[in-house]
Amino acid sequence: MQDGERFSTAKFDQSGPGAEMERLRVRLAEAEDTLRAIRAGEVEALVVDHRLYVLQDVESLASRLRNDVIAQMDDAVIAIDNDQRVTYLNSAAARQYGVPASDALGRPLAALYDFRWLAEGDADAASEALSTTGSWRGRNLHVKRSGEAIHVESTVTVMRDMHGQPAGTLAVIRDVSERVKAEAAVADADRRKDEFLATLAHELRNPLAPIRNALEMMRIDPDALRQADARGIIERQLAQLVHLVDDLLDVGRISQGKVELRRERVDLVDAVKAALETSRPLIATGRHELTVHLPPPGELVVEADLTRLTQIIANLMNNAAKYTPERGRIVVSAERAGPGEALIQVRDSGVGIPSDMLPRVFDLFAQVDRSLDRAQGGLGIGLALVRKLVEMHGGRVQAQSDGANRGSTFSVRLPLIKPSGETPAEHSPAASNLQPGEDNGVGVLVVDDNVDSAQSMAQLLAILGYRTWTAHDGQEALQVAGDHRPDAIVLDLGLPKLSGLDVARRVRAQAGWGERVLLIALSGWGQDEDREKTRQAGFDRHFVKPVDVDELIGVLGRLHR
Ligand code: ADP
Repeated sequence: MQDGERFSTAKFDQSGPGAEMERLRVRLAEAEDTLRAIRAGEVEALVVDHRLYVLQDVESLASRLRNDVIAQMDDAVIAIDNDQRVTYLNSAAARQYGVPASDALGRPLAALYDFRWLAEGDADAASEALSTTGSWRGRNLHVKRSGEAIHVESTVTVMRDMHGQPAGTLAVIRDVSERVKAEAAVADADRRKDEFLATLAHELRNPLAPIRNALEMMRIDPDALRQADARGIIERQLAQLVHLVDDLLDVGRISQGKVELRRERVDLVDAVKAALETSRPLIATGRHELTVHLPPPGELVVEADLTRLTQIIANLMNNAAKYTPERGRIVVSAERAGPGEALIQVRDSGVGIPSDMLPRVFDLFAQVDRSLDRAQGGLGIGLALVRKLVEMHGGRVQAQSDGANRGSTFSVRLPLIKPSGETPAEHSPAASNLQPGEDNGVGVLVVDDNVDSAQSMAQLLAILGYRTWTAHDGQEALQVAGDHRPDAIVLDLGLPKLSGLDVARRVRAQAGWGERVLLIALSGWGQDEDREKTRQAGFDRHFVKPVDVDELIGVLGRLHR
């Protein structure tokens, strides 16, 4: 209150500092009036100290600035009056809709585009927002005069005249088609991932029930014949699981560019025959009639990775068997197609492929009908692998079908190499149908911390005529190896006490026997860098678990005396 008291006292004192204060207050009030008049555009010139100052048109300066900014914006800006006629458009708008300003000004908005709402209710929501808040922001579709439709994001504001009445609207419009496309691609990938995970879970679970049943059967019924049946079930289901996991690993490695081809001269006849070995059980299950047309050996020689080539052909034959109802026909052929090119075809009389799916069956995770209840499932990976592997071989693959239930034909074309005197590399056929054998004089140490794994492998080798020992950690492995000096050591990498890699290094460090012993790594990992690690530790071979016993026997077979 003290200040107020002092002020009121000053007000009634007309001389001295009080009078001075009052004059100042009056001058300030006058200055304020002058400023107000200038702002209101009522003053065109001012005289100060006998000099004339002509005032700039402040409003027109500001509006010129606004116009420049709007004209240079990347977003389209369009103003329309209450009759929907275009009263203004910037150059971005003319560019975006491909209509010169002179063709649009004064004409209905439709001279620029037709617009469509994206969802029912959008139109009502927009007019509600405009009438209550005076603005609306949202997405819709603009169809240009050329017919092209673009997705746009618009901010629309009601313009008012001097009396506050609506005089039209001003829209700032951004073309977001690219963003919408990217969002759709992400949503699509997300949907496909979800579908894939559901399929994966289903396909991985499928073999488990029969395996569990078979084990139960073996537990309760000691009848040897039943045991053999049960074992058969487990083997087949396990093979299916291994196949799925292999495909998954393969597709991961291929998409990361980590698969290298081990190319050599390969006779296509050998590749087709090897693939037949793989696919025959599935073809037999479907009771299909199989016809194979092959040229004489040596006629179609390609530079290829035999394992991968076999995988390509087997995949196509498996699909032919899978997607053909029982007792269908499957024809496999290999021939020369034009100069320097081999053509491998797998034809079936099965369910066929709708024409719109033909170009897409090679896409990762693409499946024509997921709901189809098939005897042998899959993940939609096989054909993606086929295409990738064929391309890595410098070839191409194509699918053809006359439609539903009219069968399918898959054609693989590969470049031939010029014939030379050299005979194609020899490939020992898989040592399937293992038979019990006599003592072959070859000693093998099997090292695995999973006692079941080590013992079952050792037993299997013993039946085949090998002398075997087992160890379950790294130190024990060194001990047993030192005592018995086996010809080969099959060594799991993840061992307690001393890792498989360390065991290998220490074995190799022993002169004589240690340098000669065949070292085989068993690993859960099969990437190139994993293989490189085992090679550097001194291993001769690298097997990915679960081990293909036929292949292992093939490798050990070279030690036979
Ligand atoms: P998967 O067999 O695991 O589903 P693929 O990549 O091998 O995956 O095949 C992709 C899809 O192509 C299959 O789901 C199937 O719909 C279709 N397809 C493949 N081969 C044939 C064929 N021979 N006949 C009919 N459809 C096929």
